[in-house]
Amino acid sequence: MIPLAEARAYVLARAETLPAERVGIERALGLVLAEPVCSAEPIPAFANTAMDGYALQAADTRDAPVTLEVVGTIGAGYDGDLQVGAGQAARIMTGAPIPDGADAVVKVELTSPAAGSGDRVNVEASVKPGNHIRHPGEDVAAGETVLEAGTTVTPGRVGLLAAVGAYEVAAYRRPRVGVLSTGDELADSAAPLRRGQIRDTNRRTLLSLVAEAGCDGVDLGIARDQPEDIERAFRAGVADCDAVLSSGGVSMGDFDYVKVVLDQIGDMRWMQIAIKPAKPFAFGLVEGTPVFGLPGNPVSSMVSFELLAKPALRAMAGFAPADLGPATVRAVSDDDLGHRPDGKTHYVRVAATRDDQGVMHVARSGGQGSHQLAAMTRADGLAVVPDEAVVNAGDPVEVIVL
Ligand code: AMP
Ligand code: MG
Repeated sequence: MIPLAEARAYVLARAETLPAERVGIERALGLVLAEPVCSAEPIPAFANTAMDGYALQAADTRDAPVTLEVVGTIGAGYDGDLQVGAGQAARIMTGAPIPDGADAVVKVELTSPAAGSGDRVNVEASVKPGNHIRHPGEDVAAGETVLEAGTTVTPGRVGLLAAVGAYEVAAYRRPRVGVLSTGDELADSAAPLRRGQIRDTNRRTLLSLVAEAGCDGVDLGIARDQPEDIERAFRAGVADCDAVLSSGGVSMGDFDYVKVVLDQIGDMRWMQIAIKPAKPFAFGLVEGTPVFGLPGNPVSSMVSFELLAKPALRAMAGFAPADLGPATVRAVSDDDLGHRPDGKTHYVRVAATRDDQGVMHVARSGGQGSHQLAAMTRADGLAVVPDEAVVNAGDPVEVIVL
């Protein structure tokens, strides 16, 4: 068995960042920018009001309450040339440009319509120059770099890109990831199962994990336990995808042809990793494309994905080495999590809760068999329990967040 760190280093050394391309902002969420984004203009571009109210000259409000003449109304988007002089005010709506002559805004709540003839307003409070005015460049200066290369595009940043007019950006390509199941026992419909059959779950899970990781998943279907079928599926996958994930056929069974085929068509390394679950794992290049041979048991394939495939896919997508994950937190274990020494680090499925102090606690989420997918889905995380570790109830433990 090899340490997880060795397997991870082997994989990451071969997971090259994909080329950058120009992409519309509607497709940019989650991508890593390959070039910085600058703003040609200041934001805001013009002085405008943060409140609905009246634009006026602050000096006129020194002895408030005062009554001012209302010279017009300015809505957001206004581009006229209304002037506000001494003794005057303009009704103004949030986001509208401050008219020439005005140097402050008093919010509508501090005003009331004046009685008598003409359009006039009572201003109840005195305000200082600049009151409620949003100045040009307060958010972004002209020429400022708003997003550095290497930044991940978040929802707010999509908005920021639009704000600066960057409707297209240079970003590392979103990995296209093929997902293949293998096995004669696999069915893929709601029809009653024959004896010996099970439904293919891994392909559904892995396609979902791939999507959640920000990649485009490609369904490569199910290959039967025949060398020709397996070879055909892998060749189709590597021709069409940036990476291929398969599950099953990497252990010691008689029909584990994935091993045989990948050794013929690729440059693979077969590993026994000192972890539980997910000990068997294969990684290599087939026609230059990274191929991950994940174990067949549903929980194992998920754990393998989190520990090895996802970090590699993130590296391909341009994430920095420190951001490849998996992300961990510290929690207090409510269970004894130690195990009999077997040379492996155990990843224990745990459910998380918070106590009155806001401290996170974890406890086993159910059965720990690598085939027990339902128990896995009740887990919020994987508690990391090294072979030599003693984790008694009440002890701190590191938890991978799922
Ligand atoms: P294998 O490594 O192919 O021997 O598979 C190990 C175990 O995982 C066996 O019990 C398989 O039936 C099961 N398995 C393999 N592939 C899948 C799959 N796609 N969905 C659910 N279980 C699977
Ligand atoms: Mg199999």
